[in-house]
Amino acid sequence: MFQKNISLKPINTFGIDAYAESFVSVTSLNQLQDIISQYKDIFILSGGSNILLTRNISKPVIHLNLKGKEILEIPNQNKVYIKAQAGENWHEFVLWCIDNDFGGLENLSLIPGNVGTSPMQNIGAYGCEIKDTFYELEALEIASGKIKVFKKEDCNFAYRESVFKNTLKDQYIILNVTFELTKEHHKLNISYGAIQDALQKKGISNPTIKNISDVVIAIRQSKLPDPKDIGNSGSFFKNPVISKEQFNNIQKAYPQVPHYPLSDTSVKVPAGWLIEQCGFKGQRYGDAGVHKNQALVLVNYGNATGKEIFELSQTIKQTVQKKFGISLNIEVNIV
Ligand SMILES: Cc1cc2nc3c(=O)[nH]c(=O)nc-3n(C[C@H](O)[C@H](O)[C@H](O)COP(=O)(O)OP(=O)(O)OC[C@H]3O[C@@H](n4cnc5c(N)ncnc54)[C@H](O)[C@@H]3O)c2cc1C
Repeated sequence: MFQKNISLKPINTFGIDAYAESFVSVTSLNQLQDIISQYKDIFILSGGSNILLTRNISKPVIHLNLKGKEILEIPNQNKVYIKAQAGENWHEFVLWCIDNDFGGLENLSLIPGNVGTSPMQNIGAYGCEIKDTFYELEALEIASGKIKVFKKEDCNFAYRESVFKNTLKDQYIILNVTFELTKEHHKLNISYGAIQDALQKKGISNPTIKNISDVVIAIRQSKLPDPKDIGNSGSFFKNPVISKEQFNNIQKAYPQVPHYPLSDTSVKVPAGWLIEQCGFKGQRYGDAGVHKNQALVLVNYGNATGKEIFELSQTIKQTVQKKFGISLNIEVNIV
């Protein structure tokens, strides 16, 4: 059932030409259970949009392709529960919800990857995160082969974090995710200035979820490089949260520093701005580089290796540390 020596280049958005020694596409739960009864040390690959492959993978690579969507309606309530299987493409799923007038995911339009991976780092964009609409997920425990239900409180969701990236890393395979969405009277989130401006420009004062999805798609297309054109994995680093005191010191030297106060004592600073101040924006080193419009996005111009991109990320990290005293954390999963 396994294929040997398969290039993963078409299945990772960085376009890194790393190989899987053995590779299988899994389309049913039975098939997955059968595999994990034989192999415990495996690598799960979904959309490949949040990984940097720095070497070939010797563990069996399981490409998760479980498909399907179910609607569970609650009579007389403004709620609908949608269960989607892990291998459903995230953006197609969001568009399907919008076509059915199910509200809640519209701000997360056009994020690459699959539904099953969305809770891994609590994907987020334009003021929303999946924790806002997440109801529960089912995951297969690799050690026991048992299926466990995780409610929101079990997932420890935080900014680009969940229990699956931390204490339970590599222990569970997420099989499906259920979202609690609205059927009508949608709770729109237009807190982001860019969304408000785009709606205003289009003369839309009473937006629908489709209007919001459309403007989010347009904003993302204008800002982020499409992995089809240039290999990348979106934001490479997380935006750091620093103390108010440290922020005040930086602001003295750089009065224009963009920032988002999180509490009386902590401030979030855009990692892209810090990287840009260190002079990396638009720089190219062989085929590895920093995107010309988005310093937070590292790119592969064609034949960069994962190691070269990783080394560039370390140079950036050290330079930012030296200049600002801020330690950047990587968002992408380094393999
Ligand atoms: C252009 C671009 C823009 C992006 N914008 C955003 C954004 O706005 N917001 C955001 O949050 N993210 C963003 N991302 C990152 C990425 O899209 C998300 O993290 C996405 O959820 C990754 O899904 P995937 O299926 O591609 O995961 P993969 O890259 O296949 O896997 C990521 C990790 O999860 C593990 N994994 C995968 N599936 C499962 C599973 N079912 N069970 C257990 N473990 C699993 C893998 O082993 C790996 O460690 C962007 C990426 C790109 C390329």
